[in-house]
Amino acid sequence: MSDHDIDPTSPRMAPKPEVTKIAGRELKPSTLMMGHGYDPVLSEGSLKPPIFLTSTFAFPSAADGKRHFEGITGKRPGGADGLVYSRFNAPNQEILEDRLSVWDGAEDALSFSSGMTAICVLMLAYASQNDVIVHSGPLYAASEGFVAKVLAKFGVTYVDFPAGATREEIDAVLEKAQTQADEQGGKVCMVYLESPGNPTNALVDIEAVRASVDAAQLDCPIAIDNTFLGPLWQRPLDQGADIVVYSLTKYVGGHSDLVAGSIAGAKKWMDPVRMLRNTMGGICDPNTAWMLMRSLETVELRMSRAGDNAAKVCNYLAKHPKVEGLGYLGMIKDARQQDIYDRHCKGAGSTFSLLLKGGEAECFRFLDALKIAKLAVSLGGTETLASHPASMTHLSVAEGRRAELGISDNLVRISIGIEDADDLIADFEQALEAV
Ligand SMILES: *Cc1c(COP(=O)(O)O)cnc(C)c1O
Repeated sequence: MSDHDIDPTSPRMAPKPEVTKIAGRELKPSTLMMGHGYDPVLSEGSLKPPIFLTSTFAFPSAADGKRHFEGITGKRPGGADGLVYSRFNAPNQEILEDRLSVWDGAEDALSFSSGMTAICVLMLAYASQNDVIVHSGPLYAASEGFVAKVLAKFGVTYVDFPAGATREEIDAVLEKAQTQADEQGGKVCMVYLESPGNPTNALVDIEAVRASVDAAQLDCPIAIDNTFLGPLWQRPLDQGADIVVYSLTKYVGGHSDLVAGSIAGAKKWMDPVRMLRNTMGGICDPNTAWMLMRSLETVELRMSRAGDNAAKVCNYLAKHPKVEGLGYLGMIKDARQQDIYDRHCKGAGSTFSLLLKGGEAECFRFLDALKIAKLAVSLGGTETLASHPASMTHLSVAEGRRAELGISDNLVRISIGIEDADDLIADFEQALEAV
C-alpha cells in the first residue's frame, strides 16, 4: 500500500453492499454485468477488476489456513470461504462465475479452460465404472467422442436418442438405459442433452426429458449444452434441466479471441464437479476470466444484433433459387419442433445451416467466393463465419451416422456476426452467383 492509499474510514470508501434490486425491481443481467461480484473499494478504487496474477494466497492466520483447507477438501460442507491456491479458485474467476450464474438463474457456476474441459470434468464427476449415460443426438463431435471412446475405457456405456424425440420415445430410451445399467451392474448416471444440435438445429424437449426422468425416479442430473442459444435465447434451468454447460469460446466470449467453458446449476450438482476440478485443474486462467467479463458486458447487445442480422439474411436466402432449404430456428417447418421452440426459446439465434442445391462442389464454390464472411469453424463471434461440416467439423463422424444426423454434403453452416446486414446479403448474393 502506498501514499495513494485512501482513508478507509471515509464513508465513500467503505465496502458497499451489492445492489441487485432497486425499489423492489430485480435488476436485469445486462445491468448486473457492469459490477456484480466486484467492489472497487477492495482494489484501490480500480473501476475494472485488476487481473490477479498469483498462484497462491497468503492466509491471515494459521487457523484461517486450516479452515480454508477443510472447505477445499470437503471436510466441512459449503466449500472454501477464502482464497487458497489458483488451481482451486481466484478473484477474477470468482467474479466471472458469479456473473455467469446470473444469466441462467443458477445458484453456482464453475469456469474452465475450454468448453471441452467443462464437459469432460462434468461427466467424470458423475460417471462411475459400468454406469450408463443417456444423451441426445447429435452432440458436439468431441462430446460424443468423449462418451463413446474415453468413458468406454472405464466400462461406461451410453444410450442415445434423436433430438426431437417425444415423451413416449424418451420414456422408452430411459427404460432401455436402466436395463442396460442393471445388466452392467451400474446406474444411469447422467442425462446429457445438447439443444439445438449442431449443425442441424434440432431442438430437444427439455420439459419432456424432465418429466421422463422424474417418472422413472432416476437420481441423476439432466445436463444440457446451451452453447448455441445461451445465455440470451434459452434458459434450460427454467425448463427443468439441472446443469447448463457452455463453450464460452462462442457467443459469451463473442470475439473469437479466447477459449473457455463453464457449467452452472444448483450448488448440490456443482459441488462434486468443483471437487474434481480442484484435483484435476482445468480452471479458466485469470486473463481469460477478465476478457470474459469484458465480453459479458456486451453479450446481450451482440447477440441481439447478430439475431436481427440472421433473420434478415435468412429471409433473403430462403427465396434464392439456388437454395434448397434452411435449418434456421426462425423458420421451423415441423410442428413438434415449433412447439418445443415456443415453449423453450426466446429467440432464433444466429447460427443456422444453409442447404444448397447440389453437393460438396457447390458448397466449396460458395465458400471460396465469400468476401466478408470468413471460411472458419467456430461460431458466435462478432464476425460472420461459414464452414462445411461434412468435410470439416464432422469429418470424423462415420458416413452412415452423418446421414442419420442430417449432415449432408450440401450443408453449409453459417454463424452470422454483427456486421451490417445489407453488406452480408450482398456478400451471400455474389457468392451464390459463383455456384
Ligand atoms: C465449441 C463447442 C464445444 C467445445 O467448446 P471448446 O470451448 O471448443 O472446448 C462444445 N459444445 C458446443 C455446442 C460447441 O459449439
